[in-house]
Amino acid sequence: MPSAMVFLFDTCTSKCAYCGHATSGKVLDNTQLTPYKDQRLIDKFLSFFEKRTDQNNRWLLMLLGGEPLLMPNLGYMIDRLHAVGNKASLYTSLNIGENNEAYKYLLASDPDAVDYIMASFHPEADAFEDRFFHMMEALKSQGHKVIFRFIAHPLRLHRMEALHKRCKELDICFSPYAYCSANYPLAYTKDDRHLIAQYTTNFSQIVQMENGLAVDRLQCEAGEKLLYINARDGKIFPCPNVFNRAIGNVYSDHLEPKKKGQGCYDPTTRCFCDINFQQSHVKGLDDSEHFNDEKHGYVAPKDNAALRKEIESRDFQFHNKVHRKSLGENSDDDRLILTKQEVRETFEKNKDYYHGDFRKGFHKEFLEP
Ligand code: SF4
Repeated sequence: MPSAMVFLFDTCTSKCAYCGHATSGKVLDNTQLTPYKDQRLIDKFLSFFEKRTDQNNRWLLMLLGGEPLLMPNLGYMIDRLHAVGNKASLYTSLNIGENNEAYKYLLASDPDAVDYIMASFHPEADAFEDRFFHMMEALKSQGHKVIFRFIAHPLRLHRMEALHKRCKELDICFSPYAYCSANYPLAYTKDDRHLIAQYTTNFSQIVQMENGLAVDRLQCEAGEKLLYINARDGKIFPCPNVFNRAIGNVYSDHLEPKKKGQGCYDPTTRCFCDINFQQSHVKGLDDSEHFNDEKHGYVAPKDNAALRKEIESRDFQFHNKVHRKSLGENSDDDRLILTKQEVRETFEKNKDYYHGDFRKGFHKEFLEP
């Protein structure tokens, strides 16, 4: 199934719902959501995919946010995707409360329209843990496939046992992923690694603990059946680990044809994103079977050493080196949560950010569809 990851907007008060790394500190006001109030923008954005949808080509749009449940017209977008046989998946921190419009939409809508909901339990969620689990349970009762994502921050490893137990009681998969910063995952101690390994459920988690795969010999579907899109400027990148060159734009309905024999688009990067493997986009390392099991309920931890051996036996090399200018570069490894005061101060400092030069980079169709 072709898949596109869609970055919608910043919700930079703390951690990103996808990987939980500390964000850039650009605390932006909610006027950045305004363009999504116009359904013509959603129509324009989706027409790129509708033109490329047929019986053999159904798209999965992975909505990353910031927090996608804050997006106005999210229900409209999902319904429209579903009407032509495409689906959405959502990466959410569920830090939006039970009165949130998009959450209420999910509790009342056809679960077939949503392939899965990745509920990422951030450090802030400790303060509303019962509500977080209640919301996951309600989504699951409606028929949604919910996975509990846990970013294994070194200061949070003690929480894994209890959270895993709660997930098991609800028949939801507890899925831990490496914390990513300028130092991590390479800085994990042997004991940290041993503990995290007890909860392994798929190949992707192992790849991330080893800082990704070396890309020199990889073949993949990036740029064709895997895309990464910034909804604000419309730029299309081949995958979530390659940003050295845009290969198209959704608003101008353009996508470069992939060159025959094209390997990784960026020889300096690492193949790191779990989606690359879970959606079966990297040749030889298909993690979709494990991932499908996770979508359908609790999965008992697997033998980490056996899965690792399996990856190594296929001649993949782990990247295993420091990788700068990537996810989590701004993280402070000793901090889990920004204080309200820090958020306020950053907002004051950056309150005109969205209305200044930053906005000039947006596509005209995004601002006036
Ligand atoms: S990093 Fe992206 S382009 Fe490179 S091999 Fe992995 S999926 Fe393909």
